[in-house]
Amino acid sequence: MFKSKTIRSGGNAKTIKGDKFGQYETAIMYLAPASQSLMGNVCPMAGQAGCEMGCLSKAGRAGMFSSIVEARIAKTQRYFKSRETFMADLVKDIAAFVRYCAKKQVKAAVRLNGTSDIQWEVAHPCSRDGVTYTSIFAAFPEVQFYDYTKIYKRAYRSLPSNYSLTLSYSEANPAYASAIIKTANETGANVAVVYRTKHGRDAIVGQAPWMAIGDEVLTSREVIDGDETDMRFTDPRGVIVGLYAKGPAKRDNSGFVVG
Ligand code: SF4
Repeated sequence: MFKSKTIRSGGNAKTIKGDKFGQYETAIMYLAPASQSLMGNVCPMAGQAGCEMGCLSKAGRAGMFSSIVEARIAKTQRYFKSRETFMADLVKDIAAFVRYCAKKQVKAAVRLNGTSDIQWEVAHPCSRDGVTYTSIFAAFPEVQFYDYTKIYKRAYRSLPSNYSLTLSYSEANPAYASAIIKTANETGANVAVVYRTKHGRDAIVGQAPWMAIGDEVLTSREVIDGDETDMRFTDPRGVIVGLYAKGPAKRDNSGFVVG
């Protein structure tokens, strides 16, 4: 297990099918989602996407221990108080995680937005070993980064080759759902959809369901089992990543969970 001020891993390296990928361990950063830190919003689309209530941050350990929620709020407040200090901590912690993975002879993967939706590719420069980089991705070319996002405009950007982004669907707001489908059609980006039950999700794996909101139609997209691995960078391009609701998300009625 790797634990630091900003990121942590569960300690389980996962073997990804196929020689192309090999064994990875993922470290994730958990912040206080949306405006929970009371100092700013780390999920600018949460209101529009209607995902805050069902947010996974409330599932599992964070849902049980208020100390975890408090620690995440404090970490998020540090991010808002001094971006420079926060980025310096993050660089130090990712460098330590890289060394930890090297010792274990596994590859390092990092999810910065475990419970946030920060645009790390924009206005987040950092320094590593005295050299300034435009982003954390440029500072750590040896690390595979990946995230889910509700900020669909990010899919139109030319992202670093070591950063994989999957769009996150929600039907809470037809305009948002429509924008996600349009973006997926125009960019080819993958779309993660949270289904109500595992049974419901499993029933459509391998199929290409018809998804239509308003004038936007997403067709010919195969659904894959997105819970088989969390490592979205290994997914084929042009699919629907089918997840099923866990924790409080099971009771979500906002439209974030479908079916
Ligand atoms: S689901 Fe994502 S975007 Fe929505 S509140 Fe949670 S972390 Fe933020």
